[in-house]
Amino acid sequence: MSRVMIIGCGGVASVAIAKCCQNSDVFTEIMIASRTKSKCDAMKEKLQPTTKTVITTAQVDADNTEELIALINEYKPDAVLNVALPYQDLTIMDVCLATGVDYIDTANYEAENTDDPEWRKIYEERCKKEGFTAYFDYSWQWAYKKKFEDAGITAILGSGFDPGVTSVYSAYALKHYFDEIHYIDILDCNGGDHGYPFATNFNPEINLREVSAMGSYWEDGHWVEVEPMSIKREYDFPEVGEKDMYLLHHEEIESLAKNIPGVKRIRFFMTFGQSYLTHMKCLENVGMLSTTPINFEGKEIVPIQFLKALLPDPASLGPRTVGKTNIGCIFKGVKDGKEKTIYIYNVCDHQECYKEVGSQAISYTTGVPAMIGTMMVVEGLWKKPGVFNVEEFDPDPYMEALNKWGLPWVVCENPQEVE
Ligand code: NDP
Repeated sequence: MSRVMIIGCGGVASVAIAKCCQNSDVFTEIMIASRTKSKCDAMKEKLQPTTKTVITTAQVDADNTEELIALINEYKPDAVLNVALPYQDLTIMDVCLATGVDYIDTANYEAENTDDPEWRKIYEERCKKEGFTAYFDYSWQWAYKKKFEDAGITAILGSGFDPGVTSVYSAYALKHYFDEIHYIDILDCNGGDHGYPFATNFNPEINLREVSAMGSYWEDGHWVEVEPMSIKREYDFPEVGEKDMYLLHHEEIESLAKNIPGVKRIRFFMTFGQSYLTHMKCLENVGMLSTTPINFEGKEIVPIQFLKALLPDPASLGPRTVGKTNIGCIFKGVKDGKEKTIYIYNVCDHQECYKEVGSQAISYTTGVPAMIGTMMVVEGLWKKPGVFNVEEFDPDPYMEALNKWGLPWVVCENPQEVE
C-alpha cells in the first residue's frame, strides 16, 4: 500500500501512471500533478475506470518550491516520482528534503538556462576538471547525498531505461556473471518507423540537446571526448537487424565509471537513420537548436523551444510507430580467471506498447522502469538514506519486476562484439 505523487503527465509519465494503475496492490493512491491540470484530468478520466488505484490530480509548477511544498504537505505522499523535465530535478529534491519524502527520477539535472553566468562558471570548471562538456551531469544531484542522509530519506537517480535498466543490467552482470567487468558497451537501438521525415521520440528539447552534444566515453580512468557523431559502428541487433549506431555521451557512463570497480572502458551507442542526422545537422547549422533567447518581432523566443512547438508531439507517435527497439549492454570481463562476454538486452515492440498503454516503445521503456524504481522504494526493497544511482542496489528484485511488468530481458553468451 502506498501513496505516490507523480510530477509530469507527458509521454514517459503517461506510461508510468498506466503501470502504477496496473499495479494497484502496491500503488493504492496516486496523484498526477503538472502545470496543465487538464492533461492530468484527462489521464485520470481514461485510467480511473480501469483500476483500483485512487487517482487525484493537481496543478503545480515544480519550479516553484513553495507551491510544491504546500501540495506535498496536503497530499502527504510516501514518495515523489519526478517524470517532469531534468530542469526540475533540483527544485523537486529540495522539496523532498523540506517535506521528508523519498525521491525518484529518470534523468540527471540539466540547467534550463545555459547562459546563466553563475551556472556557467561552475559548468566550465567541471568541464576542465572532469573532461566532458555535456550540459547535464550528476555532480549537482550527488551533492545532495549528505542532506538526504541527514534527513533519513532516499533519492534514486535515473530509473528509466538508459539510464536505469542498463545500469541495473550492469549490477546484475557483476553479481551473477563476472568477478570483474572490464568493458561495457551500451547499445540503444530504435528500429521503429513513425513515418515522419523528422520527429523525436521523447521531449525534443532534451533529446536534441543530448544528441547534438560532443560524444564521449570513459577509458582508463578518464573521459575521452570526440566530435558529435564522429564514431560510427554497424551492429546486427537481435529481432531488429543491421543498423548504424553512433557514439554519444550518456549519463549512466558517469555513474557506472564510479560504481563498477575495475571497469576499463564504457561506451554508449545509439542508432540513427540518415534522415534524422541530416535534419538535425541542418537545424543545428541554422541555429534552431540554440537555447539562447532571441528577439523576434518584439517577443523573446528560445529557438529550440520554438522548434519543439513545430515538431510532432512525441506522445502522438504511438499509433503510427511500427517496429521494435532493442536496448542492452555488452559486458566483457573475467570469471574464475577466464575471459567472458555476455549481452543483456530487451526487445520492445512499438505497436504492442501502443495496444497496451497507448504509447510508443520509447515512452514505454522509460515509464515501466520509472514505476519499478518507485515500487522498489515504497516496498522498502531499495530504501536507505542518501542519494543513489540504481546500480548501487541489489539488482535481483528489479530484474524480476522487469520480467513481470513488460520489459523481459535476454542474456546472450558470446554475442557479436563492437569493435
Ligand atoms: P514530456 O515533455 O512529454 O513531458 C514532460 C512533462 O513535465 C509534461 O507533462 C509537463 O507538463 C511537465 N512539466 C514540465 N515542466 C514542469 C514544471 N515546471 N512543473 C510541473 N510539471 C512540469 O517529456 P517526456 O515524458 O518525454 O520525458 C520525461 C522525462 O523522462 C525527462 O526528464 C526525460 O529526460 C526523461 N527520459 C528518460 C529516459 C531514460 O531512459 N532514462 C528516456 C526518455 C526520457 P506541463 O507542461 O503541464 O507542466
